[in-house]
Amino acid sequence: MAILSGAGISTDSGIPDYRGPQGLWRSDPEAEKLVTYDYYMTDPDVRRRSWQMRRSSPTWNARPNAAHEAVARLEQSGKPVRVITQNVDGLHQLAGLTDRKVLELHGSSHTVVCTECGDSTPMAQALERVEAGEDDPDCRACGGILKSATVMFGQALDPEVLGRAVGVAKACDVFVAVGTSLQVQPAASLAEIAVEHGARLVIVNAEPTPYDGLADEVVREPISEALPALLDELHRS
Ligand SMILES: [Zn+2]
Repeated sequence: MAILSGAGISTDSGIPDYRGPQGLWRSDPEAEKLVTYDYYMTDPDVRRRSWQMRRSSPTWNARPNAAHEAVARLEQSGKPVRVITQNVDGLHQLAGLTDRKVLELHGSSHTVVCTECGDSTPMAQALERVEAGEDDPDCRACGGILKSATVMFGQALDPEVLGRAVGVAKACDVFVAVGTSLQVQPAASLAEIAVEHGARLVIVNAEPTPYDGLADEVVREPISEALPALLDELHRS
């Protein structure tokens, strides 16, 4: 089974939709600059504001909800399950899902990467430096610009991660798209690839998606209630 998760799975954990078509970043041009690669790399003020935004992110205090827990339980029960996520919050892993079962299409906000040498370090360490007064901490190895290890607007997805996600979509028997509007490519097309390769498609989302017509089942109930019930049912069948 493959599960594609989007922002909607984490809203019950207190993390708003930043990135989607109707997300916070898209509706506020100043906020969007903070997560746009060119602005970030060329404007120190954008970087300073980005670090302040990261510092106050709701992600650091967020806990997995019943939906993340249901996915982790399914894996622990021995069912082969792979998660492809558009989220950068790490909540699937925090719920207990094995790290290597998760493909993070947009990277992880828990890691920092150097844009010069590629060195990767924990976000917590960089935020400690911000707390201590460094408003734009640089790479300790080479002095380069540090950024969150997430895919910014203007950056391509990691081709290796995407390639593995396509492989998962092709190989799965059931593809569950949960909490994603399926409007952002190439993530959305994974649903279509799964169907073309014979998978059953189940969509769990509050709003209609462009792929509802392809789906065998569409669920509109709140995700933290609907997903545990759905996964139980799929597990038994
Ligand atoms: Zn570096």
